[in-house]
Amino acid sequence: MKNKEDSKKIASAIKKARGEHPELTEALDLLTKLTEISFEEISPNSENISWEKLDEGFPVIDKRLVPKDISPLHKRFNEIVEILIAEDKNGASDIVAFFEKEKLFKKLIEGVLMGQYNFPKEFTHSKPITLFAAGEALLPIIDGIKKSDPPPKNLHLWEESYCPICGAMPNISAIEGDENRLFLYCSRCAQTWNFRRLVCTHCGEDDQQKLQYFHAEDNEIHRVYVCDTCKHYLKSVDKREKTTVIPRLEDVATIALDIIAQREGYKRETIDFVGLILMDYETNK
Ligand SMILES: [Zn+2]
Ligand SMILES: [Zn+2]
Repeated sequence: MKNKEDSKKIASAIKKARGEHPELTEALDLLTKLTEISFEEISPNSENISWEKLDEGFPVIDKRLVPKDISPLHKRFNEIVEILIAEDKNGASDIVAFFEKEKLFKKLIEGVLMGQYNFPKEFTHSKPITLFAAGEALLPIIDGIKKSDPPPKNLHLWEESYCPICGAMPNISAIEGDENRLFLYCSRCAQTWNFRRLVCTHCGEDDQQKLQYFHAEDNEIHRVYVCDTCKHYLKSVDKREKTTVIPRLEDVATIALDIIAQREGYKRETIDFVGLILMDYETNK
């Protein structure tokens, strides 16, 4: 079961965000619904975990960690799709029906887990929603891996811009501690890891002439770092001023910065929760 303390912490943080951002009520309602789906973590067979992969730049997750019985993941996928497209019942049931065959669903989650999935030609529904829901469906496995005592030595040496546990890209970064170190937060599983400062997480650009940042006039804690080489951006929070960061909530609460960055022609790296909200914003504009 998801840790009760964590759920409480998230619920109270969402409540606070509601007060501060009445304009985000809809997005926060959706986030609340997603965080309320409980799940049992799935402990991996320890023989199938290779922490050494981290030393070679590969995330820990791989196909061998998918359990034989994937029905709990399948159920979770269906629930998430239904929450995300609640306003269009047919849209949701079309996606659920498409992946009803276990074999097809297994291919989908394995593809998402390996960072590469090719939709069948006949799939004509929302690809971003499907990919996001499949990523969320993997959380019971990901949490199981995290509980299997990752050796801190291997984790601390991780230098890539994607998550060492699940391979997803970060959705937010934070500057922390007295040494002003930069940490990235995984958009899928909230894992955090240390990363070099002043380097683009998308393309690795480190020429300072190509990297810039901006922030809202009245808020210097939240910034957007943009790269003019690849035209991607990543938001950042100065955690020296704030005690805790719940990455997905922080991401939602700073959506105004995404809108500005995208207007300026910069792209967001991830199809994640806020990525989906922004797509809605685009179509409703
Ligand atoms: Zn992750
Ligand atoms: Zn770049």
